[in-house]
Amino acid sequence: MRDIASKLNEFRAGITAIDTDYVRPKLAASHLVVDGGRAAFVDTGTTHSVPNLLAALELKGIDRAAVDWVLATHVHLDHAGGAGALIRELPNARCAVHPRGARHLVEPSKLIAGSIAVYGEARYRELYGEIVPIDASRIFEPEDGAAITLGKRRLELIHTPGHALHHYCVVDRGHELIFTGDTFGLSYRDFDVDGREFIIPTTTPVHFDPEALCRSVDRIMSYAPRSVFLTHYAEVRDLGRLAREMKERVVAYVDLAIRYRDAPDRSAKLRHGMFAMIATWLDAHGFPRDDGLRHRLLDDDVELNCQGLEHWLDRK
Ligand SMILES: [Zn+2]
Repeated sequence: MRDIASKLNEFRAGITAIDTDYVRPKLAASHLVVDGGRAAFVDTGTTHSVPNLLAALELKGIDRAAVDWVLATHVHLDHAGGAGALIRELPNARCAVHPRGARHLVEPSKLIAGSIAVYGEARYRELYGEIVPIDASRIFEPEDGAAITLGKRRLELIHTPGHALHHYCVVDRGHELIFTGDTFGLSYRDFDVDGREFIIPTTTPVHFDPEALCRSVDRIMSYAPRSVFLTHYAEVRDLGRLAREMKERVVAYVDLAIRYRDAPDRSAKLRHGMFAMIATWLDAHGFPRDDGLRHRLLDDDVELNCQGLEHWLDRK
């Protein structure tokens, strides 16, 4: 049996973060939520992640038939790539996916082509493997604010555009928490300094919309959650500061993109500029001045963020 116990982190309110083994440890989580003997997964990782999710159920003694929901916050493949392969193993589960994203999980060819455009064919295969389509009869398309039940718990699915048009967040008012997918940015635990959390926005192609993203952060904060759970990675608590920094940093990304809009070597300038800017934030945060470590932790996100910003510039 694989060593699943080391890939789990337990949190309050019946929540377990399961490492989806995407790229490196503690980069991406699927959250298992258990209430009254029923279970849900919030985000699934990729098809390669599904064995971890099933092993987590087994370790915790939860029957596969007790899983009612697979909640895909949005259809980017590090969040929903494994949804089809997972739901095949869960006889009673339905997959909730934003109305603007649902068709991509039923018929994933466009999603696959889009991801190959971002990652290249070889890297795409290595990261995501085969994408299993989901039968339309098992899909639930929540309108903004739709409520679902998990055991005794009521969850609200609220539309939160900005990172992606097909993004929703999962609000649990009873436990004062929200699962934010990518809307509230990235906060890798590797960046924690003395328990202080570090956050950056994620501006993946092809829907980045800075105004909408800042409004969605405000909407998340309007529920006054005690903590939020990010797919990248798990629970963060210092929400007043993090929300302010998220919005400031969205503006900083946009200013950087506009500064280099017409530069002949725009792509290189933007990537160099973004890494340098995040480095100044890490300096202020007290993170070690180790360039090798910083590049190892940030280069993939800098690349994706810059692709998204360039896409946004070209759309404007
Ligand atoms: Zn995403």
